[in-house]
Amino acid sequence: MAYTVTLIPGDGVGPELAEATQRVVEATGVKINWEIENAGADVVAEYGTPLPERVLDSIRKNKIALKGPLTTPVGRGFRSVNVALRQELDLYACLRPCKKFKGVRSRYDEVDLVVVRENSEDLYAGIEFQEGRPETRDVIGQIQRLTGKHMPADSGVSIKGISIGATRRIVRFAFEYARENGRKKVTAVHKANIMKFSDGLFLAVATEVAAEYPDIAFDERIVDNMCMQLVQKPELYDVLVLPNLYGDILSDLCAGLIGGLGVAPGANLGEGIAVFEATHGSAPKYAGRNKADPAALMFSAVMMLNYLGEREAANRMENAMATVIAEGKDVTYDLKPAADDPTAVGTSQMADAIIAHLQ
Ligand code: NAD
Repeated sequence: MAYTVTLIPGDGVGPELAEATQRVVEATGVKINWEIENAGADVVAEYGTPLPERVLDSIRKNKIALKGPLTTPVGRGFRSVNVALRQELDLYACLRPCKKFKGVRSRYDEVDLVVVRENSEDLYAGIEFQEGRPETRDVIGQIQRLTGKHMPADSGVSIKGISIGATRRIVRFAFEYARENGRKKVTAVHKANIMKFSDGLFLAVATEVAAEYPDIAFDERIVDNMCMQLVQKPELYDVLVLPNLYGDILSDLCAGLIGGLGVAPGANLGEGIAVFEATHGSAPKYAGRNKADPAALMFSAVMMLNYLGEREAANRMENAMATVIAEGKDVTYDLKPAADDPTAVGTSQMADAIIAHLQ
């Protein structure tokens, strides 16, 4: 049986990573028809939008996609296509396993954490008011009237909302994931001491949901303390569940614990629909240079194979990757002792080595 999967190669280093990943997935023997769809800045001239409806239609039809990174211009131009995709398809859960593989350079020997990030609300919902605009002055005036609190007139405003419904479903997702994957503990991360009505609600709902899962331990940490604890003793933690912004930041922190963005995979999941993508971005400085590490997108593809129920192929692919990384010979610059190591190989050659181990 062949699966049809939407493939969004992305931009920057995306296309070369996608090509390498496609080849390795095909070498597992799992048959996939890749439906290639482009998005991002490069398609704006043709479709008038960085996220054409045909891309969304393809994912809605196939219910599964593998996606390379897409560049978001800072402070101008269109909003993040990555965020829009998650919102359009209601991919409410971002799952980022952070497991340290032998051979990857890290300050830590053993890290095996899972970050579950809420994807649909919080400061990422895009409810923003630009400094100097009339509606922004209105909002600032309303805030003053309703709360008695003064906000300088030259402020830009971003609104943070956290709801009971979205919190309940993400915390349930984290507990269900813990149960299905033999995990022992879920930690809710928040700043409820300061943001009592948004993060406070997140914590209250998380505590309520935790009571439905007596077989899984539950605790909670304030986000700043969590950052320090993860740096000092990551082995104390297992599954972390976080609102959107903290989830974004701590995903990169956890990627750092396991050796960097080059090896950190991820998935964005909704009800019966999934988009698999690495944690890292488009790394523009390496674009087109056959230099970037394909491991993160490949580990995301391993998650995809597991999601499809192809567990044996997923295990074989992960083992082949783990072997190549542990040997440390045919790996990209970021997996070598020094970034300028002359023995580092390119994206494509690392894929070849993994394929050789699969065969
Ligand atoms: P980035 O992840 O692209 O790069 C951060 C650092 O990690 C850089 O030094 C980069 O060279 C390195 N790096 C990243 N991926 C690597 C890989 N596979 N192999 C080796 N080194 C790698 O983050 P950034 O520079 O903040 O963002 C660049 C662009 O990507 C921005 O436009 C941003 O909005 C976008 N972005 C997209 C996504 C996504 O598509 N989901 C995620 C994050 C950032």
